[in-house]
Amino acid sequence: MDAAAGLCAGCRHGRVIVSARGSTFWLCALGASDPRFPKYPRLPVVRCAGFTRRDDDEDDHRPSPPSR
Ligand code: SF4
Repeated sequence: MDAAAGLCAGCRHGRVIVSARGSTFWLCALGASDPRFPKYPRLPVVRCAGFTRRDDDEDDHRPSPPSR
């Protein structure tokens, strides 16, 4: 788990967003449909009613390393 992101790193609703400047943000997909969840949660998230553990065989939502 990404300790800096807390629960979002292991949640199926968490998505990594990389800005044009290379900054990394965690987006909460629940935030698009449920106002209880901020689109960009303040990290680390240590407690969350929407947390749903990501299955091990799911994509871990991390950006791929740049290709050379
Ligand atoms: S539901 Fe909670 S734990 Fe999951 S991505 Fe959103 S804010 Fe993070």
